[in-house]
Amino acid sequence: MADALVLIDANNFYASCEQVFDPALLGRPLVVLSNNDGCVVSRSSEARRLGIGMGRPYFQIADQLARHGVVVRSSNYALYGDMSQRLMSSLEAWLTELEVYSIDEAFGRLPRPRDGDLSAWARELRVTIRRNLGLPIAIRTIRTAGWRPHRWRRSGEWVHG
Ligand SMILES: [Mg+2]
Repeated sequence: MADALVLIDANNFYASCEQVFDPALLGRPLVVLSNNDGCVVSRSSEARRLGIGMGRPYFQIADQLARHGVVVRSSNYALYGDMSQRLMSSLEAWLTELEVYSIDEAFGRLPRPRDGDLSAWARELRVTIRRNLGLPIAIRTIRTAGWRPHRWRRSGEWVHG
């Protein structure tokens, strides 16, 4: 039986890492800024809902952020790199093959379930990663003939995205 191929992607990764290390930030609007606090590089879901744009220069939106009570964090790449390693090594146990694509994305291969339905597997993986690492992830199935991860980016459909 053919293997299933998936793309696993951590949601709002930098913001989620900040929330793991400071649970008081959970459920709050939060943005993470790029090097030297230049612009917004990650937003919690609550900040997204406020319409805070990705990539916006901080100096342009500092007033808006303050008005909405948005928590602002400088980026901490040592922390994100550490969380990324923990995420990727946790994923290894769930996959027969893993290719890390970026700090918060990985392609994976696993035996396709008999009925072809990955949703139970995906649900269990998401719950486990959330419980063990505190990180929300999304999982997307990929249809392709071969193991060529760089080509997969735009195909496939979300499983419990
Ligand atoms: Mg992501």
